Amino acid sequence: SRAFKGSRTVGSIFINRAQLSSLVFIEHKNKKIDNATLNTITAAKNLGGPVSALVAGSDAQEIAGQVAKLDGIDKVIVANNPIFDNNLAEVITPLLASVHENIKSTHILASHSNIGKRILPRLAAKLDVQQISDIISIENESTFVRPVYAAFPPAIEKDSASPTEETTAPEITAKSVWVKEEVIKADRPDLSSAKIVVSGGRAVKSVEGFKIIQDLADKLGAAVGASRAAVDAGYCDNSLQVGQTGKIVAPQLYIAIGISGAIQHLAGMKDSKVIVSINKDPDAPIFQISDYSMVGDLFKIVPELTEKI
Ligand code: FAD
Repeated sequence: SRAFKGSRTVGSIFINRAQLSSLVFIEHKNKKIDNATLNTITAAKNLGGPVSALVAGSDAQEIAGQVAKLDGIDKVIVANNPIFDNNLAEVITPLLASVHENIKSTHILASHSNIGKRILPRLAAKLDVQQISDIISIENESTFVRPVYAAFPPAIEKDSASPTEETTAPEITAKSVWVKEEVIKADRPDLSSAKIVVSGGRAVKSVEGFKIIQDLADKLGAAVGASRAAVDAGYCDNSLQVGQTGKIVAPQLYIAIGISGAIQHLAGMKDSKVIVSINKDPDAPIFQISDYSMVGDLFKIVPELTEKI
């Protein structure tokens, strides 16, 4: 998986039919195609066969114009209806199912986002097929590499534009209502895509102790991560958890501070390009996968490191 670091994973549904063709669900926001969707388009292109894209929502027409120009896209299907704004799975799923009914694609793809993760399992159940998640590479139409993170380069613009066509939405009664979106504004980079991640573990001992981690991260322009023990102890928000039950990251540089290196934590960061660990126990398991190991007290080493940087 090391070869695929840096970009994103996709989820896919595979419907076994002889003639390959793909349908990609296009995520977009503020009149812009979501970056992870560009990676997904490349994944669809790699599968082989024609690629259709489904764009839904009140901006669908405008986005369709952008999608049609992307390399890998052969056709754009537009569902121009405000009911599809905000990508509620309850309304997008029947739409995708109805489009699939018309075009009968062998693969349906969405990016590995919260939206994709809400839609594809529902769709898989509806179509009675298996969902394949966390794809980082495609061997052939039924063989996928799928452990951690990263995968396909983003789709680039081509010279011509593929045709776009309208689709009529099926009769949909929305059973859920979009209330609002609360975005936590962070000055730091997003943990999932940051080039550098600085993570703190149980050893920071307190919310104040965790500030040492944040200070170093800020100096490096890095995202902040944490072990589950640090999250469970309430030293930081659980959105920062890295690992099997948290976020999976593969940055250029991962700095693990006061983290022992439990297998569940490693599952979320072991594919980082360079791993630096600071731990007072020379036998800490994290050192086994570290490129640089510093044995010592984090309360001494980290502030000094931050100051010197
Ligand atoms: P510890 O294991 O307690 O390690 C603390 C480390 O800090 C030790 O190595 C110690 O030597 C070092 N230390 C102590 N004081 C200092 C000091 N002053 N200076 C320097 N070093 C010091 N964990 C995750 O992280 N992410 C997950 O997603 C996750 N999912 C899980 C899912 C399941 C189903 C289960 C069962 C567990 C999961 N865990 C997860 C928990 C995991 O097993 C470990 O318990 C956890 O990762 C330990 O966190 P830690 O390394 O911060 O704490």
